[in-house]
Amino acid sequence: MAPEKVLPGIYAVKVRRGYVNAFIIADGPLALIDSGLPGQARVFLKHIRAIGARPEDLQNIAITHHHVDHTGSLAPLVAATQAQVWVHSLDAPVTRGEKPVPGPNPKSISGKVLWPVIKRISPRQLPALKIDHEIADGQDLPIAGGLKAVHTPGHTAGHVSYLWPRHGGVLFAGDAAGHMFGRLGMPLGMFTEDMEQARLSIRKLATLEFDTACFGHGGVLKGRAHAAFRRYVEKMAR
Ligand SMILES: [Zn+2]
Ligand SMILES: [Zn+2]
Repeated sequence: MAPEKVLPGIYAVKVRRGYVNAFIIADGPLALIDSGLPGQARVFLKHIRAIGARPEDLQNIAITHHHVDHTGSLAPLVAATQAQVWVHSLDAPVTRGEKPVPGPNPKSISGKVLWPVIKRISPRQLPALKIDHEIADGQDLPIAGGLKAVHTPGHTAGHVSYLWPRHGGVLFAGDAAGHMFGRLGMPLGMFTEDMEQARLSIRKLATLEFDTACFGHGGVLKGRAHAAFRRYVEKMAR
């Protein structure tokens, strides 16, 4: 099992056949963007070995937001590696297992219909975990030679996207936007706390320069990816 190479030094880990993506940045000590669903730690460790690294080479895990498909294997991965955890201060209490995992947006009809099913399969609370670093908007993290945290609230209040200024800029959008079936779009309404804020966050991302965009859900957008964000924002305004 090998992770998929996105660009030199970036690998996609497709959890549950691509339901959700996490990304390994292999530039010096390893870093991970997000940590998949619960029960996937072994998959991540296999992927790390497959690129010729050891579990203890994983030094940082930068979380985009507290949802369980992005934080599910965080606690066992931290236990198995040297990793320090980075998360926005507003999403830290849920990620730390201090606050219960919130339900879907009550305004969303699909959320109302599907919530009883989701409730059965998702944990009420994440396992207790020490968060090493609570991050703020615009912070430059000492990860992979510098990784910029961009606060993109809406999907959750503490959602963060990350910009790596290599290869013409690589944006890790998390769930601030989706790229399902090759179409750039809003994150799923059922799981988005505040759609209006989510729209503003996509606008914020569209002002950045990046050639590649990686998403929590959907395929990688390569080549002038920021232009696709700008077109989407223009379309939204019409
Ligand atoms: Zn999410
Ligand atoms: Zn997600």
